[in-house]
Amino acid sequence: MNLRNILEQSGITLIAVSKTYPPERLLEEYNKGQRVFGENKVQEITAKYEVLPKDIQWHFIGHLQRNKVKYIASFIDTIHSIDSFELLQEIHKQAQKNGRTIKCLLQFHIAQEETKFGFSKEEGIALLEQNDWKALTSVEICGVMGMATFSEDKTLVREEFKQLKGIFEQLKSSFFPNSPHFKEISMGMSGDWEIAAEEGATLVRIGSLIFGNR
Ligand SMILES: *Cc1c(COP(=O)(O)O)cnc(C)c1O
Repeated sequence: MNLRNILEQSGITLIAVSKTYPPERLLEEYNKGQRVFGENKVQEITAKYEVLPKDIQWHFIGHLQRNKVKYIASFIDTIHSIDSFELLQEIHKQAQKNGRTIKCLLQFHIAQEETKFGFSKEEGIALLEQNDWKALTSVEICGVMGMATFSEDKTLVREEFKQLKGIFEQLKSSFFPNSPHFKEISMGMSGDWEIAAEEGATLVRIGSLIFGNR
């Protein structure tokens, strides 16, 4: 049985992270049944969207500049990397122009590396306490995303995933108690997806394990 089926049995969606791979490799996975793909660059995801089947569900998982939202707003399903209110505003504006709703995840900084993007727990809470996001009717805040420290230390990685799950639970009960849409925890990559699955991931983002080393 393949990885996608194993995950599906636990109710976890596999996002095939196809960055750097050519469209032909995505099509190979598509022909094996994969429909959800993740990319982290605007130019690359747009080029692949153009040439690949239109029933693919595209997820944007990288840092997103506000001035580039307009290039993906017509087709993107979910954006995992919300790290400011201004980005959310721009996504709302561009989604509305396209007559669509775009699903968004708040990215949290759970790793020890400084280089990774995302809110602290306090910043995420402060954003939601402002209430301004409620006017952004063309975005749907569906949950949280995070990346663990790139480390062999499984205890550390597990702690970080637990931390993200804790943030999800707190936001859910404080701000989304009656929202069935707020249900996603995007965590886990090729090296740590098993730990993420054990700690409550609903979306895992896996690249090299599927496509080979970049
Ligand atoms: C590249 C990437 C992944 C997938 O990484 P692999 O180690 O190849 O599985 C997951 N999430 C993000 C945000 C990425 O940039």
